[in-house]
Amino acid sequence: MPNRPTPAQAWTSLLEGNDRFVRGEMQHPSQDAARRADVSTNQDPFAVVFGCSDSRVAAEIIFDRGLGDLFVVRTAGHVVDTTVIGSIEYGVDILHAPLVIVLGHDSCGAVGAAADALATGRMPSGFVRAVVDRVIPSIVALPDPTDEGAHDPTAPRLAPSAADLGREHVRHTVRMLQSYSAGLSTAVAEGRCAIVGLEYALAEGRVRLVEARGPIEA
Ligand SMILES: [Zn+2]
Repeated sequence: MPNRPTPAQAWTSLLEGNDRFVRGEMQHPSQDAARRADVSTNQDPFAVVFGCSDSRVAAEIIFDRGLGDLFVVRTAGHVVDTTVIGSIEYGVDILHAPLVIVLGHDSCGAVGAAADALATGRMPSGFVRAVVDRVIPSIVALPDPTDEGAHDPTAPRLAPSAADLGREHVRHTVRMLQSYSAGLSTAVAEGRCAIVGLEYALAEGRVRLVEARGPIEA
């Protein structure tokens, strides 16, 4: 096995790349012809990124990485199904990536649609409904943020913001991955892998830690 970073080193590398992106000082590593040739016969990504499909949350760009660095799985609202878990397990068990990132973001359309469906009882049509169906369990236990009329205006406001819903969805997704995937939970228990839930701020470009499972402290 090649020199593999620890979960903490992989995490630090992603944070440094995101910081370069935020400051507009990208290095665009692993994006030249030599790297393309290097990885043409083998891949050795140091992280799995499971994120929202949102066009503004492109994994290699926001972490300033390139070819062969990240094993990326994206669905709208980073909703989980069996093929998603299988893809993540492939990255961890077969490719030995030491880090799994769950990447949510502010103003997520899927989270907003789930909150709207809960508030109105109306579900989107077609297979978009399957996406919303998979976000709802993350937020259904939280008070409805649009339900302002039900609150005494003099009482402390307990309803979560849209940002709270998004963060809760990231936390719930991290917990689901760890509980559904025996391979992933074993890798975390043995210290071979960590799972880190992040929230990406669209305007600022920075990722912030929401939840971590496993050894990410250096
Ligand atoms: Zn989204």
